[in-house]
Amino acid sequence: MKGGVDLGGTKVQAVVMGARGKVLGEAKLPTPQEGGPPAVADEIAAALREAAAAAGTETADLAGVGVGSPGAVDGKEGTVAEARNLPDWEEAYPLARELSERLGCRVALGNDVQVAVDGEFALGAARKDRSLLGVWWGTGVGGGIILNGKPWLGRGAAAEIGHVVVKLNGARCTCGRKGCMEAYAGRGAMEIEARRLVKKGHETELFEIMEKRGRTRLQSGIWERALEREDPLAVKLIDRAVAALGAGVASVVNVLDVETVVIGGGLGTRLGEPYVERIRAAMQPHLFVSDRPPAVRLAALGDLGGAIGASLLV
Ligand SMILES: [Zn+2]
Repeated sequence: MKGGVDLGGTKVQAVVMGARGKVLGEAKLPTPQEGGPPAVADEIAAALREAAAAAGTETADLAGVGVGSPGAVDGKEGTVAEARNLPDWEEAYPLARELSERLGCRVALGNDVQVAVDGEFALGAARKDRSLLGVWWGTGVGGGIILNGKPWLGRGAAAEIGHVVVKLNGARCTCGRKGCMEAYAGRGAMEIEARRLVKKGHETELFEIMEKRGRTRLQSGIWERALEREDPLAVKLIDRAVAALGAGVASVVNVLDVETVVIGGGLGTRLGEPYVERIRAAMQPHLFVSDRPPAVRLAALGDLGGAIGASLLV
């Protein structure tokens, strides 16, 4: 048995896996919002202990644990730095060693999106393929690449698909540059644009739905609800996001010529198959070899995909 953890800004999802990709135990705990990296390490350990108990074992008896983390992950050194969704996490923190001491087993670290893409490649939507581009559509737009059956990490920063430029001198991106795909398609950027348009007098139900649900951010479920109600502002911003995804993803396909594109992430998974179909259609006019498009599929492992993929690091 081995463990896997998906470390997110709001929750820590842990799984314990048996042979052939079977989930034997799982646990979900909220991510601490203060206390810095040591508090997060404590919570990850607690989630794993709970998942191990559900699987009828203890963490010290696991073959190892893989963790998919945001921020700058150094798998060799076992450190994570600049994880800005996590509390006070700027400097490199030796997460692998700290967790290993708490759990009594080996710990390996990987990038959160890349491990989720690895999971889809091994056990999910692309398990029959040799090459894959993962597009994780959420607060930002992350990516993962598999070529000839192996993850392509470049020099450590490959697959930053969110920062493919879809418009020269275009919208300002959270990375500080202009015209990135994420500046149009990232949920964070869409929320900034929605707030700006509301200030200018545009009407939308987005923020009413948010308040009704006791939220402070426009989470994926809020966009979904507004789209169901055909809220004009939500429809306009999502149409713009889909167009940007079409151009950006097709451009990367023109370079890599992968067999399959998998769409995942919070917003991608929430909006589901109809939007995968829309992204597929939006890609079509930008594909250089337009009569042989790649398969475009929805991520198949669902909410546990990140943690299941992380377990493959072991
Ligand atoms: Zn950018």
